[in-house]
Amino acid sequence: MKIAISDIKATPQHLGYIEEVEELNQRLARGVRDFQVGRGMAVEVEFYRAGLDLFFQGTVRSEVVGSCARCLEEYPFPLDRRFAVVLTPRAAAGVAAGQLSAEELELSTYTGEEVDLTPLVYEETILALPTRPLCGEGCRGLCTRCGANLNQGPCGCAQAAEPVLHPRAK
Ligand SMILES: [Zn+2]
Ligand SMILES: [Zn+2]
Repeated sequence: MKIAISDIKATPQHLGYIEEVEELNQRLARGVRDFQVGRGMAVEVEFYRAGLDLFFQGTVRSEVVGSCARCLEEYPFPLDRRFAVVLTPRAAAGVAAGQLSAEELELSTYTGEEVDLTPLVYEETILALPTRPLCGEGCRGLCTRCGANLNQGPCGCAQAAEPVLHPRAK
């Protein structure tokens, strides 16, 4: 979603829209964190300017599907993140000193005629995701022997394993 910089005034304006998630999901699929955003993300944002600085604050809401790191089951959970971002003109951001990476530049500065909210919304979504996908803190995971999902009950390996772990005590 792009907003023309000339449309950003000192008086706050509100914008609500649905952000596409295809590109974000491609990015997530490349990473180590196993998440996919279910459908379009509902973005509510208020924006205004103070001098040359542009302020954006609002919420990103979506349904996310994680793949549990222990039991490998997919589990849905709601994502609801508040965010507040300030963009400064790129020319004033110490670019000459090379202090910022390309990504930091994109997420903290603006240049040209318009501001693209999409990378900001993506970044906020990624920040809101847990570091490790778990369907629940108490997830029992999979049996290392038979691969059964232990959340669905014991698999029977516990008894069967006995003779293997302690081979015939003479
Ligand atoms: Zn699990
Ligand atoms: Zn088992």
